[in-house]
Amino acid sequence: MHKYVYLFSEGNGNMRELLGGKGANLAEMTNLGMPVPQGFTISTEACTRYYEDGEKIAQDIEDQIYEYLKKMEEITGKKFGDPHNPLLVSVRSGSRASMPGMMDTILNLGLNDEVVESFAKITGNPRFAYDSYRRFIQMYSDVVMEVGKKYFEELIDEMKAEKGVKLDTELDADDLKKLAEQFKDEYKAKLGVDFPSDPREQLMGAVKAVFRSWNNQRAIVYRRMNDIPSSWGTAVNVQAMVFGNTGDESGTGVAFTRNPATGDPHLYGEFLMNAQGEDVVAGIRTPQSIDQLKEVMPEVYDQFAAIADKLEKHYKDMQDMEFTIEKGKLYMLQTRNGKRTAQAALKIAVDMVDEGMLTKEEAIMKVEPKQLDALLHPQFDAESLKAAIPVTKGLPASPGAACGKVYFTAAEAVAAAENGNKVVLVRLETSPEDIEGMAAAQGVMTVRGGMTSHAAVVARGMGTCCVAGCGEVKMNEEEKYFLIGDKKVCEGDYISIDGSTGNVYLGEIKTVPASMTGDFGRFMGWADEIRTLKVCTNADTPRDAEQAVRFGAEGIGLCRTEHMFFEADRIKAVREMIVSKNEEQRRKALEKLLPMQRGDFEGLFMAMGGRPVTIRFLDPPLHEFLPQEEGDIIEIAGEMNMSVADLKQIIADLHEFNPMLGHRGCRLAVTYPEIAEMQTRAVIEAAINVKKATGLDIEPEIMIPLVGMVNELKFVKNVVTKTADEIIAQSGVEMKYLVGTMIEIPRAAVTADEIAQEAEFFSFGTNDLTQMGFGFSRDDVGKILNAYYDKKIMERDPFASLDQDGIGQLVKMAVEKGKKTRPDIKLGVCGEHGGDPASVEFFHKIGLNYVSCSPYRVPIARLAAAQARAKELLNK
Ligand code: PEP
Ligand code: MG
Repeated sequence: MHKYVYLFSEGNGNMRELLGGKGANLAEMTNLGMPVPQGFTISTEACTRYYEDGEKIAQDIEDQIYEYLKKMEEITGKKFGDPHNPLLVSVRSGSRASMPGMMDTILNLGLNDEVVESFAKITGNPRFAYDSYRRFIQMYSDVVMEVGKKYFEELIDEMKAEKGVKLDTELDADDLKKLAEQFKDEYKAKLGVDFPSDPREQLMGAVKAVFRSWNNQRAIVYRRMNDIPSSWGTAVNVQAMVFGNTGDESGTGVAFTRNPATGDPHLYGEFLMNAQGEDVVAGIRTPQSIDQLKEVMPEVYDQFAAIADKLEKHYKDMQDMEFTIEKGKLYMLQTRNGKRTAQAALKIAVDMVDEGMLTKEEAIMKVEPKQLDALLHPQFDAESLKAAIPVTKGLPASPGAACGKVYFTAAEAVAAAENGNKVVLVRLETSPEDIEGMAAAQGVMTVRGGMTSHAAVVARGMGTCCVAGCGEVKMNEEEKYFLIGDKKVCEGDYISIDGSTGNVYLGEIKTVPASMTGDFGRFMGWADEIRTLKVCTNADTPRDAEQAVRFGAEGIGLCRTEHMFFEADRIKAVREMIVSKNEEQRRKALEKLLPMQRGDFEGLFMAMGGRPVTIRFLDPPLHEFLPQEEGDIIEIAGEMNMSVADLKQIIADLHEFNPMLGHRGCRLAVTYPEIAEMQTRAVIEAAINVKKATGLDIEPEIMIPLVGMVNELKFVKNVVTKTADEIIAQSGVEMKYLVGTMIEIPRAAVTADEIAQEAEFFSFGTNDLTQMGFGFSRDDVGKILNAYYDKKIMERDPFASLDQDGIGQLVKMAVEKGKKTRPDIKLGVCGEHGGDPASVEFFHKIGLNYVSCSPYRVPIARLAAAQARAKELLNK
C-alpha cells in the first residue's frame, strides 16, 4: 500500500517535495533532538490524490491517518477525544515552497463539550479551557465550513458590551463558556447542522479544509506571482498542541535569526506571555521584543538562542521560527528560511560569505532576482503606505512608485513637468507618440493593455513606473477626468500608483529614492564571476544605454529604430516618406531622415564604448506613423501640398484589419527597399564616424525583423550588404558588420536551418513568437488570461514568463537547427522574457549566448543567469 502519512521522526529536511517545507523542517528539528511537539505529516501526494479523486479523501488515506493518530497517542501518552486525558492537535498546511499566510490553520482541535469540561479541571484553569474551545469553534467554522469570521466577532463585541469591558482578556471563564455556546448556535443557524462533537469528524474536516485551501484565491494568486506550479499540492501537519495561554509561565512568539528588514545579524522578533499564536499577529496586545525574554525567562531565552543559532548554521540560511513556552518549557513549532527585504537579502548573503558559512555560489542562490527591482526604483514610504487604501488595481507593468498630478495627454504632461510639477500620465492606452509624455512623467497609468503593451514595454525600458490595464477606470479624455466607481479624478488631482503591485491610490503618498549599498556591488560581482550567459539590454537612446551600462549591460541586444522615427522633430519627414507617391519622392524624404538616424546611432555607439550593438530595422506598420486627429491631418495636408481628402484616402488605404500580421518588419523593407538602404547607410556611416573619432573597434549588427522565410532575409540582406560594402569601400576604414535576423515567427523557428544560411545571428523575439505561437494578441490578451486563470486553463501570463513547453520548444528547435547549419551562430533573445528569471534559466539551459532586456532588468537577468549556472555547479 502506498504510504501517505509520516511521523515527524520518519522524515527529514530533504523531503520537502513529499512533506512540504513545514513537515520536512519539523522532521529535521526532531532529528536534531530539538523540543518539537510530536505529530505526523500527510504528504503532498495525498493532496494531489484528493484532487484526482474529485475532492475526496480516499479510504486508504483516511485509514492511514487514523493509524498514525494512534501512534501519536502512544508517543504523547494522551488520547484523542478522551475527556480524562485529551490529546488536542493543530492542523496546519505546508507546501513545498513557503507561502506565508496563504493557506489555513486550525488550532485546539479535539475539544468538545465533554472534553472541555474535564480539560478545565485537569488544567485547573477553566478560563484557559473555554477560551481554547471558543477559539477552536471560531476557527473551525471559518476555515472548514466557511462561516464568515465576522459573525463570531460580533458576538464577542456584544458580550464585551454587555459586560462593560474593552478587551477579550477581561472576559472570564463563564463568559467564554457562554460564547462557545453562542458560537455553536450560530454555526447551526448558518449551516443547519450541529457543530461536530466527534474529534475524528473534526480532524477529517480540517484535513480536507487544508487541501481545499491550496486552491483558494489568494493561494492561486501567490503561486502565479512566485512561479509555483499548482500541481505541487500542500501537505498537512497534525501536531500535538502545546499551550502558550495557560498563564504567566507560558507564552508564544515568532523570531528571526537576523533582522528580515535590514539583515542585521542579531536575533530579532517578539513574544507575548499568556497568549496563543494568533494574538501575536492580531495586534490586540503589544508584544515584547525577543530581547526582553532574557529578563522574563533567562533560561528559556538561552535555550532558544542556542537553538536559533544551530538552526541557522544547519540550514545555512536566516531562519524564521515560531515557538511556544508552556509552563516554562520551550517548544519549537516551526522553522523555515525567512522572507526578507531585498536589502536584507543582500546583506545576509554577503555576511554569510564573510562568516564562512556560505560559498559564493551558495550565496548567489539566497537572493530572489526579482527582489533586486526594489533596489533600483523609488518606493512608497512604508509608513505613508500603511494608511493608504488602493481604489483600483491594474497590471504591475513597470516597477517603482510614482505620485503626481494627473494629466491626460503627453503634451500636457510635458508642459506640467516643465513647470515643475510631478506628473502621472493617464491614458486609455499609449501610442508611440506619447513617449515624451512618458519620459516627463513620474508614472504612467493606462486603462487598456497587457504586460507587453506599448506602454509597459516603453515604461520598463525607461525605468518609469507603469500600471497598465486598469479596466475599472471609466475615462473621459475629452472632459479630462476619469471615474473609479463614484470617485472622480480630474486633471491636476494627485494620484499615486505602484508599478510593483498594480495598486492605484487617490491623493499623495510620499516616495523615497532607491538606495544602492556596497553589498549590492560585491554581490553582483560574484554573480558576474559565476554566470556564463551574457546580459545585454534593449535600448533605443544613449540615455537608456548609459543607464544599462551602469547596471552592467554588456551590449545592446535590441535597438528598436521605430522609436527614433516617432521623435517630434522627425515625424514630419517620416510622414512625407509614407505618403510619397513614388520612389523618388520617398528617397527625398529619407534623405532628411538619414542624418538624424546617423546621429542617433553615433550616440548609441559612443554610449556603448565598443560593446556589441544590435540595431533592428524598422518594424511597426506604417499607418502607425500617420496623424489621427482632424487638426493634425489638416496641418500635414497643408504642409505637403495635398488636399485633405487625398491625405485621408492615403490613411484609409494604409488601414489594415490585422496590423500586427500586416505590413511591418521585413515586409516594409521588401516593399520599400530604400528604407533599408537609408537605415544601413545610417548605421554604417555612424560606425565609421565613431571608429574614426575614438579608435573604438565597432562591429555593428544589423537585424532584420519578422522574417518567416529564408528568401525574405536573402532579399533584404542583399540590399544591406550592397549598400554597406559600398560605403565601407569608399571610406577606406576597415569595418566588419553582421547581418542577422529575429526569430519571432513560428515558421522561422521551424526553418531555422535554412534561415541560418543567411543569418549570422539569431535573436529570438519571444513577444511575437508567443503572440503568433499561441495566436494571442499581445495587446488584448489580458481579459482572456483572467478567465483562463479562473478556469485553470493557464497559470501564468506567457508574455511575462516564457511558455517553456510550447514556445520554448520552438526556440530550442531553432537553436539546434541554426547550429547545425552554422555552428558558431550567435544566439540571443530580446523579447520581454530576457528579463524574467525563470525564462533566463531556460535560455541558459538551451545554450543561448545572451539575453537582452530593458535596462532596469539587467541586474535581475545577471543574477538569474548566475543562479542558472550556480545550480549546475552546486548539483555536480
Ligand atoms: C519580440 O517580438 O519579441 C520583439 C523583441 O520585438 P517587438 O517587441 O518590438 O515586436
Ligand atoms: Mg517583434
